[in-house]
Amino acid sequence: MDVRSQVSMVFHLDKCIGCHTCSIACKNIWTDRKGAEYMWWNNVETKPGTGYPTKWEDQEIYKGGWEKNGDSVSLKGAGKFKGLKNIFHNPHLPVLDDYYEPWTYKYQDLFTAPEGDDQPTARPVSLVTGEHMDVQAGPNWDDDLGGSPDYARQDYNLNQLSQAEQEAMFQLERMTFFYLPRICNHCLNPACVASCPSGAIYKRGEDGVVLINQERCRAWRMCVTACPYKKSYYNWHTGKSEKCVLCYPRLESGQAPACFHSCVGRIRYLGVLLYDADKIQKIASVPEDQLVDAQMDIYLDPFDPEVIRKAQLNGIADSTIEAAQKSPVYKFVKVWKLALPLHPEFRTLPNLFYVPALLPTMATVSNGIYDSTSKSLWNDVSQNRLPMKYLASLFTAGNTSKIVEVMKRLMAVRLHRRGVTVGDLNRNEISSAMSEAQVDAETADAIFRLTSLATFDERFVIPPAHREESIEMLENTGDVKGNTGFGFKERPARGL
Ligand code: SF4
Ligand code: SF4
Repeated sequence: MDVRSQVSMVFHLDKCIGCHTCSIACKNIWTDRKGAEYMWWNNVETKPGTGYPTKWEDQEIYKGGWEKNGDSVSLKGAGKFKGLKNIFHNPHLPVLDDYYEPWTYKYQDLFTAPEGDDQPTARPVSLVTGEHMDVQAGPNWDDDLGGSPDYARQDYNLNQLSQAEQEAMFQLERMTFFYLPRICNHCLNPACVASCPSGAIYKRGEDGVVLINQERCRAWRMCVTACPYKKSYYNWHTGKSEKCVLCYPRLESGQAPACFHSCVGRIRYLGVLLYDADKIQKIASVPEDQLVDAQMDIYLDPFDPEVIRKAQLNGIADSTIEAAQKSPVYKFVKVWKLALPLHPEFRTLPNLFYVPALLPTMATVSNGIYDSTSKSLWNDVSQNRLPMKYLASLFTAGNTSKIVEVMKRLMAVRLHRRGVTVGDLNRNEISSAMSEAQVDAETADAIFRLTSLATFDERFVIPPAHREESIEMLENTGDVKGNTGFGFKERPARGL
């Protein structure tokens, strides 16, 4: 057992109001610069929709992530050597139009235009070329189902649905959507790390944050192709790739990342997970329907004396182990099994987890009225406004029974709390729903509390930074373990 620690995040999608405050907070700090105008390290998408860059989930187009080869995995499109043949023309690299061409307005024209018959206007000007341009698309052009036939109907996850199911989903009275905030997943098996010919990308030993060394980056852009989430970006001005740094300078001084700190819906939870690095290669290559359970298996119980002993031997500080024991992420992911990874079939073992949105998906239409509390939800999930197959495509690599399990647990909490606060539901029905979902009243109350009433300190639990570890780990980066993108050397033993 090779115990490591990872700073990780949970997004509770029922709470996201799609305000984009997180995206703006991130942009103001990190990408408000020349060459980075088109980058949104944090972006918020509407689902169903095509996202940013457009159709990023479709690996037939972009060839990102890993594919299973027997008991191992190999990069789908890019790689240290595989990608070199595409060095002069890489058809899988997203181009600017796949993101959008960033623009501003020529406001000065409002003041300096010569006198004429018409009012002067501020025309859009490209931030890349400086020329006038016709705006064709923006990073959230499909917000709130805007332009649905062009965007929502093109959602990659709809491929899992039959034509009839798709038609039913887009009936006016069933139409629904939810928001999906995205940042870099700081994966356990990062395809970006494995693909970089310069060894410029590495995973920090002490907290698992994935970073790009700007000195070593040589603009190969393999990471842009290899990242299936399209969270590595190329800066056309500096000639280097860049990505989310999980606001590590803020983390090191005990402050929450900008996206977390500014989140209006308080949907984000940040905490430490302990995991067994020895299992990465094996888990990355299990069959698709087992991927979620296998990934959950990699995260370790921070209260287990053997895990604590091995963690200490590996040099993990006691304060980090203590933070892992109090981690809200551990609760949502491992204890309550409510939070799922996004597109686990990409096999990068992402470390952001999503509690799927219950309300917009579960309400059924009966007699023309939406009903989000009926026990009938338990009996016929096919009546839900968003088909389970759609959610399974997003969060469980197509394993529908897994997503139904999670939805039922969320529903059990909802029914229990309605029983407590409103009391209009049949107690026997609530009890049978809760026992089917294997949620007792105490657990349901704890889930409700962390979801709805948690203070900042309960949502943000990280250990104090250990600079000595960080410098040691930085010096020890660069190795690739086995055939994966897992990129750091053994931790120095603590001598216990
Ligand atoms: S592969 Fe994972 S760690 Fe690397 S940029 Fe993409 S999401 Fe981030
Ligand atoms: S700030 Fe929070 S609520 Fe608003 S879009 Fe971002 S994640 Fe959602």
